[in-house]
Amino acid sequence: MITGSTVRAQTIISWLKEIETEIAEQSAYLTQLDAAIGDGDHGTNMNRGFTAVGRVLAEQDEPAPPGRLLILAGKTLISTVGGASGPLWGTALRRAGRSLGDAETFDAQQLAEALDAAISGVVELGSAEPGDKTMIDALTPAAAKLHQGLDAGEPLEQALAAAVRAAKAGAESTVPMEARKGRASYLGERSIGHLDPGAASSVIILSALQRVVARDQ
Ligand code: ADP
Ligand code: MG
Repeated sequence: MITGSTVRAQTIISWLKEIETEIAEQSAYLTQLDAAIGDGDHGTNMNRGFTAVGRVLAEQDEPAPPGRLLILAGKTLISTVGGASGPLWGTALRRAGRSLGDAETFDAQQLAEALDAAISGVVELGSAEPGDKTMIDALTPAAAKLHQGLDAGEPLEQALAAAVRAAKAGAESTVPMEARKGRASYLGERSIGHLDPGAASSVIILSALQRVVARDQ
């Protein structure tokens, strides 16, 4: 269990690798979700981006602090993904990285703050609000749960598990929503009845973090 300052660069490297593997496996599913209310490229976009992140990380020969790795990953997503998810997730990871700074390790509270910074970056760039049927509907309740758990004294692993459950519920909640941001918004009412692809990939990304944190302990 993580209780103090024990999240380190290796956790971030493992997390990004876990995302790469999981997104590759779920790519067809994400693309299928995007085919229903978008242009059917979300799985391809995310897969391209995180494969590039894996490549860039593998080329790193100097050990870098966690914040630097996240900034590098974010830049890579921005430069390799054409769809909206590239700049959005790229900004999210860069902001998280900036929030962690140059420290070698960080604690649970700093991780929660990094998630807040990531979400703020997504909101500043895409101006989505909860209820607009986007990734924000998965990420926002997850961050709230993470803070709630940590403030109640839960170990990070446990608080993250609750955050992932909140992200899943948040993603499910996008089904009856009418999209107000992104390509799905062009469909108006016809976007109702479908799961938002970006909310689905956000669950994958947070689940990967939870698994890696649980495994690294
Ligand atoms: P594109 O829409 O350019 O094809 P993707 O298919 O990769 O890009 O990503 C679509 C996802 O991006 C959506 O499901 C949604 O969750 C997210 N998204 C799109 N626009 C916004 C926005 N303005 N704010 C937050 N998330 C958004
Ligand atoms: Mg798309």
